[in-house]
Amino acid sequence: MTEQADHAHAGHGHADHAHAGHDHAGGPQHRQSQPPARPEPESRRRQGGILPGLVKGLATTARTLARPSHTAEYPDTRPDLPPRSRGVIALTEENCTSCMLCARECPDWCIYIDSHKETLPATTEGGRERQRNVLDRFAIDFSLCMYCGICIEVCPFDALHWSPEFEYSETDIRDLLHEKDRLGEWMQTVPPPPALDPASAEPAEVAAANKPPRTLRESSAARTARPRPAASGNREAGDDA
Ligand code: SF4
Ligand code: SF4
Repeated sequence: MTEQADHAHAGHGHADHAHAGHDHAGGPQHRQSQPPARPEPESRRRQGGILPGLVKGLATTARTLARPSHTAEYPDTRPDLPPRSRGVIALTEENCTSCMLCARECPDWCIYIDSHKETLPATTEGGRERQRNVLDRFAIDFSLCMYCGICIEVCPFDALHWSPEFEYSETDIRDLLHEKDRLGEWMQTVPPPPALDPASAEPAEVAAANKPPRTLRESSAARTARPRPAASGNREAGDDA
């Protein structure tokens, strides 16, 4: 009997253990059904709720309303762009020697040049014939161009220029390939270069061009007026002896 009671007690104890296990297993379920309240965001706690933020936002709106607007209503108002803005590239065809420097340096390979050689007769009797490049095609594909300006920088003959004109959008992307006639038309929109500094030294080319040409008589007079070189010391010593 005592053994059975002990067993029953043990069984009860087991049941208690099982109950304890149930509590252990059920505890989290209880916590899941009632999650703890989330803490308020730090910023909201610091500001003391939503109202101060709202008031601050309305104050900013009111301040901005009182300021004058800086929006340019394009196309009714044309933007006042700096004269050297990178709008479109213009070509002076007469300056281009088809040297291909710009096409080689263009990172996008969007410059297309075709040319052929032409033989010019000698200008003097017995002189040699000369050859020159004749430009057949010069085109820039502005759908590829990234307006880096390298082609303009590297051109040794000032054949390419920036124009601030930017209104040349097209509905067909293929029309953004500008051939040399159209590139030449953009030259009318290129602003003139800034005036030279009056205090600067005269460029060497300008000084050479402004110099009067030397006549034959002047050059022969200069030769005769030139002092004769002094006799050497040995010669003088020999003469004296
Ligand atoms: S670098 Fe200048 S001169 Fe040479 S092909 Fe280009 S535009 Fe013409
Ligand atoms: S601006 Fe740059 S990308 Fe455009 S054509 Fe000139 S070199 Fe090429």
